[in-house]
Parts: sequence; structure tokens; C-alpha cells
Amino acid sequence: MGDWHQDIVIKNVSNEELEEVASQVLDYLVAEEIISREMSDNVLGSERGYCPGKSWQKAVRYPEESHFLELLTNGLDVIKRRNIFYADGREFEAINCPNCGANNLNCDWGELFGQWLEDPTSAELECVSCEQSNSISKYVFEPTWALSNLGFIFWNWPTFKDSFLTELQELTGKNVLKVEGKL
Ligand SMILES: [Zn+2]
Repeated sequence: MGDWHQDIVIKNVSNEELEEVASQVLDYLVAEEIISREMSDNVLGSERGYCPGKSWQKAVRYPEESHFLELLTNGLDVIKRRNIFYADGREFEAINCPNCGANNLNCDWGELFGQWLEDPTSAELECVSCEQSNSISKYVFEPTWALSNLGFIFWNWPTFKDSFLTELQELTGKNVLKVEGKL
């Protein structure tokens, strides 16, 4: 069985506010006891992640799904740098223009992602339909992928409930996306 991840990605966070927004979310998760401040070797991709807290059930749709607590990989990895949060194992069905909604699936997204990681101001894509240029990070991907500099990757947690995402959206005042994938 592979490891599954749900990434809560906070969009449109400037470098100046990055630490502040990251702490805001972490403090909230700790205060609600969804995660604990305790860290261990419980994530993939980073050395250490935060452990599930006493009230992790508050965040998930089916609180009886507690078996993830027995897994080695069940932590939260906080990503505070430009990153592509991706839905592993699933092909793009659509890359929709943020202006008109047209599907730009045939764009060279791999190259644009690379450009965006190097310099986010250089990765503009002109829509095939309305011809407006926007950063590739503003396009809407199906399945959901997200390009951002702040994300919270939860490993092997049960499916989050929608209201959890809404709470984080209200807390930060930012657009919040959920990306999910399986390794
Ligand atoms: Zn367009």
C-alpha cells in the first residue's frame, strides 16, 4: 500500500507575510489539538514532521478512521518555499484559464513549472482562447495541483472535511486549495 497525502495549500502568500501566515496556521492547528508541537521522523521528503494531536478527529470527515495513528508516516510537513504541490499518479484533464476558463491542456506546463520555480515572474502563459497572459500559478488544474510557497502536507491522514478547509480560509483570509495524491 502506498503513502497518501493531502496538501492544504495557501495561495497568494507574499514572501513578506510567509512566516506570519505559516505561524498563524500552525498555532491554530496546535491550539485546536489537531496536531501536536511534538515532532518525529514521520513524513516523506523532510526530516521531521508534526505528530497528530489529541483532537485530530476535528479535521476529518470520518473520525473512526484512526488506523493511520499506527503508521510510521502520519505527520504534517510544513513547506515554506516555492513548491509544486502535485496529485501524484494522475494525468491532467484540464488546465483552465483563470480569466475565461478555457482549457489550455496543450501548453508546455512542464517547462512553465520549471520556470516558475526559478523565477515566478517569468512563467506567464497566454490563454489560447482569450489571449490574456497570466502566471501559470493562477491557472486552475484538474485534478487539483497547486503552485505556491506555503503548504501543509499531511501524510496518510483520513480525508479532511470541507469545513476544515473553510476554517483555514477564514483564518488566513486566503484562497485555500486541497491537493491529494498517492505515492
Ligand atoms: Zn482565457
